[in-house]
Amino acid sequence: MAQKRDYYEVLGVSKSATDDEIKKAYRKLAKQYHPDVNKDPGAEEKFKEVQEAYEVLSDSTKRGNFDQFGHAAFDQNGGFGQGGFSGGGFGDSFEDIFSSFFGGGFGGGSSYDQNAPRKGQDRFMSMRIDFMEAIFGVEKTVTLNVDEECTTCHGTGAHSKSDVKTCSTCNGTGQTVRQQRTPFGVVQTQGVCPDCNGKGKTISKHCKDCKGAGYINKRVNVDIKVPAGIFSGQQLRVSGKGERGANGGPNGDLLIEIVVGSHKHFKRDGSNIHITIPLSTIDATLGTEIDVPTVHGDVTLTIPAGTQPNTKFRLKEKGVKDLRTGRLGDQFVEVKLEVPTKLSKSEKELYEKLKEDKGDSVFDRFKKAFK
Ligand SMILES: [Zn+2]
Ligand SMILES: [Zn+2]
Repeated sequence: MAQKRDYYEVLGVSKSATDDEIKKAYRKLAKQYHPDVNKDPGAEEKFKEVQEAYEVLSDSTKRGNFDQFGHAAFDQNGGFGQGGFSGGGFGDSFEDIFSSFFGGGFGGGSSYDQNAPRKGQDRFMSMRIDFMEAIFGVEKTVTLNVDEECTTCHGTGAHSKSDVKTCSTCNGTGQTVRQQRTPFGVVQTQGVCPDCNGKGKTISKHCKDCKGAGYINKRVNVDIKVPAGIFSGQQLRVSGKGERGANGGPNGDLLIEIVVGSHKHFKRDGSNIHITIPLSTIDATLGTEIDVPTVHGDVTLTIPAGTQPNTKFRLKEKGVKDLRTGRLGDQFVEVKLEVPTKLSKSEKELYEKLKEDKGDSVFDRFKKAFK
């Protein structure tokens, strides 16, 4: 997959850009690159890129995900990173794009239309992964029940197109008006049409596969690509696997909160990893070479002579890949000096010999300088 450009860069706005600035930048670039007006080779590609960036940055949820995960946020199965780009707009004429945002269609008709397509609710679940899986990424499959549009009737619930009839009670409005005579005159009350439940349409013969529901509850496997570098508490979004939409609207999304397990020795701090290793006072005094475990395998570390307790060494780029930048963090190795508690007879003799040779102890010297 070709390296994708940062969406903010595509639109030429800062990470803190307001919705208005994003809209303005999009409008300018979309005008500039729209295939209807720009016949340069590459203009169409550019236009698509701009469209995609706008679709993400103009949606606060998608923008939030992008800020957190970068492009990895959209690489999920069913998301728009893979295969076709779901974004509405491309293929629309130049005018369509702009009329859909600036005037027309937008502010008008603010009254709630109960038959308008609505996206379904999002669904939440959590997924536990190992420490190492979070570092290197993992693919998991979850099985869940999802209401999917019935492919036989395409969600209409009718056996055939001709079985969908305009409701004769309300003439397709979904509303019935009742007139009542009162002492104050004639009062009209509006209510939901009882014959079509406000749909404005009735079905004379139901689809045999979904029994008129328009959807079928299916058990599906969803492949989840957990990107390398994920943290506990971060959420992955799988589009279209949430609750069923209303009136032909799309399903909501599935949000998966990741819970990362801990490791016996490695501790993670962002993209860095910390480990504490035991070291004998002899090795610290004389210096040595050790093979330190890292998540990427053993790495040789030179311990210089005279290493002090709690010294931290850094192994560059032996940490975790940063989700956003793709840069590797470091591993920090803290040395814990271990003073022997049991000595063999010969060891004891050697230590005593050392003590004799040294003469004044460090404490003696400290004491002398104390006054
Ligand atoms: Zn059906
Ligand atoms: Zn009706």
